[in-house]
Amino acid sequence: MRMKVVGIVGARPQFVKAAVVSRALARNKGVRETILHTGQHFDTALSDVFFQELGIPAPTYHLGIGGGTHGQNTGRMIEGIERALLDERPDWVLVYGDTDSTLAGALAAVKLHLPVAHVEAGLRSFNRRMPEEINRVLTDHAADLLLAPTPMAVENLRREGLPEARVRWVGDVMYDAALHFGQLADRASTALERMRLEPRSYVLATVHRAENTDEPKRLEAVFEGLSRVAVELPVVLPLHPRTRKALESLGWLERARERLKLIGPVGYLDMVALEKNARLIATDSGGVQKEAYFFGVPCVTLRDETEWVELVDAGWNLLAPPHDAETVARSIRTHLDARGHPVEAYGDGRAAERIVSELTER
Ligand code: UDP
Repeated sequence: MRMKVVGIVGARPQFVKAAVVSRALARNKGVRETILHTGQHFDTALSDVFFQELGIPAPTYHLGIGGGTHGQNTGRMIEGIERALLDERPDWVLVYGDTDSTLAGALAAVKLHLPVAHVEAGLRSFNRRMPEEINRVLTDHAADLLLAPTPMAVENLRREGLPEARVRWVGDVMYDAALHFGQLADRASTALERMRLEPRSYVLATVHRAENTDEPKRLEAVFEGLSRVAVELPVVLPLHPRTRKALESLGWLERARERLKLIGPVGYLDMVALEKNARLIATDSGGVQKEAYFFGVPCVTLRDETEWVELVDAGWNLLAPPHDAETVARSIRTHLDARGHPVEAYGDGRAAERIVSELTER
């Protein structure tokens, strides 16, 4: 009998993580994976393109849940996931990262007494106003197997009293993805040519965290700060739908468009090509901070804190809390040519294989 795994995904960062784990699961003939997509991110630019480019198997279940409040989405997801899990009765339920889909998956599974494994367990910002932080803490305490990306994540779990037997440091699946798809992007992406960009001649920026998009003062500091930099060096910004909506409702979209190179969200291969060739990356994304390091590009993080503290300690990443535009602009200018020390924390690019071994051995 083959071991049955249900992988639960719903949002962009989860597609990248699931892509490498699904590939590793598919290589093991003793395992059959079924994918459930909650629908949290549903449009082509944020979802379909990732399934196509990264070769993720088509979801067997698609719940089509998105667009509501956190409570509405999470509640409806739990209901839909429970139904699917009752049909499937898997040996493992895999959840990824820190979105509402992660928490809904973990809660639905644990209440059915189905073993749950959490990929990217143990990350903490210690900022309880972040919806992601609540999702992480609750998911880790519900899960049976905590697959930590870094030694710091292991330490966070230990401090919360989670039993050591549940915790494994496997490395970061995003590093696996960057290594694998990074090579593919070199061959397949024409993003730089299309946008007429020369390597190392632009700043790449992404902004989508609620703490920035939902706070006009912070959003202004970010966009005004990036605009000041753009006078000297083009700033390319693939705009997340949430950020577009916020800029539109404040009447700032046109002004931003005049000063920055705003483009729509791009597929992963184009994103990686843009990251690899950037002079610097300015972002409030978790994944993008690490991709900057994986590709040897300095990063300025537009937040008050980060979960990926190793990169700040090593000198690759500079925290720039976006309280005012000058802090943002100055941080970017001073960090343009920064280099840091190598960081061992993310493993050796074989995190996905280790995850499969953990699942099959238990
Ligand atoms: N990403 C992408 N296209 C974009 C913006 C981001 O492919 O236009 C990728 C990015 O490279 C990373 C992942 O999406 O692998 C990160 O997701 P996001 O920033 O949405 O979430 P976070 O990592 O902050 O949870």
